[in-house]
Amino acid sequence: MLAGIDLGGTQVRVALARSDGQLIASVKTKTPPLKTPQGMVDWAAAEIDRLRGNQKVTSIAIGAPGPIDLKRGILVNPPNLPWRNVPLASMLNRATGAKVHLANDADMAGLGEFHRGAGRGTRNMVYITWSTGVGGGLIIDGRLHRGGHGTAGEVGHMIIDPNGPLDNCGQRGCLEVFCGGANLAKETGHPAAELFAAAARGDRHARMVVERSARYMGLALISLTNVIDPEMFVMGGGVTRSWKLVAPTMLETLRSSPFIKPARRPLLRRARLGDRAGQVGAVEWARINQ
Ligand SMILES: [Zn+2]
Repeated sequence: MLAGIDLGGTQVRVALARSDGQLIASVKTKTPPLKTPQGMVDWAAAEIDRLRGNQKVTSIAIGAPGPIDLKRGILVNPPNLPWRNVPLASMLNRATGAKVHLANDADMAGLGEFHRGAGRGTRNMVYITWSTGVGGGLIIDGRLHRGGHGTAGEVGHMIIDPNGPLDNCGQRGCLEVFCGGANLAKETGHPAAELFAAAARGDRHARMVVERSARYMGLALISLTNVIDPEMFVMGGGVTRSWKLVAPTMLETLRSSPFIKPARRPLLRRARLGDRAGQVGAVEWARINQ
């Protein structure tokens, strides 16, 4: 059997699956009550043990927020958790006896959408999560592309304007500065959800900010198309709840490129798996690496 774990800042999800990837059961809990990494590992191991019946779980993948030391299976310093240099893979291996693979959460969500969500049937797909921040996962020739150091797909840190505002990452004018919900909230003084609600109601200023961010995202789609040539973009994350507000501008921007002819213009689809994408992708990763 396989298990997939999605470790987020607010909740942890565990899914159990047959060795062909067919999901059998899933559970979730809030992250804060688990407090320590050991608490999280003990909870996950106990749930896996409870759900597996008399079958053996041989391969587990955990999707977690970066930065991650993929080779050594270490969670370095996740932005939403007060944990530092946690050897999560070896801790979970000790608790379960299974082979454990630690992976980037956006990669896992992308993999989930590729195998079992909106991206099914494609070979080259770019997953973008547009929420508080902007992240991504790349599928190239049917496989997750992680890059030389496991950090490929950092879509949010593509430089859109070298004279733009300084990003938390230290670069200027990253896509995330113009589109990330946290930055939009900082700029407008309203939480991103309120901003998008106001734009939906027709508030002129909110509409302008939202449209500008969708245009910048569209420019990122142009650059990604030119570099990767995907058949499809799949977009997830909180902002996609306002799909009707952002999709037309993104598509219009993508279509405005005279260089990307209609024949090679990728599709733009909203993610299908919602907040289950990470656990579904982790199960797939556990299957691929079993
Ligand atoms: Zn950046």
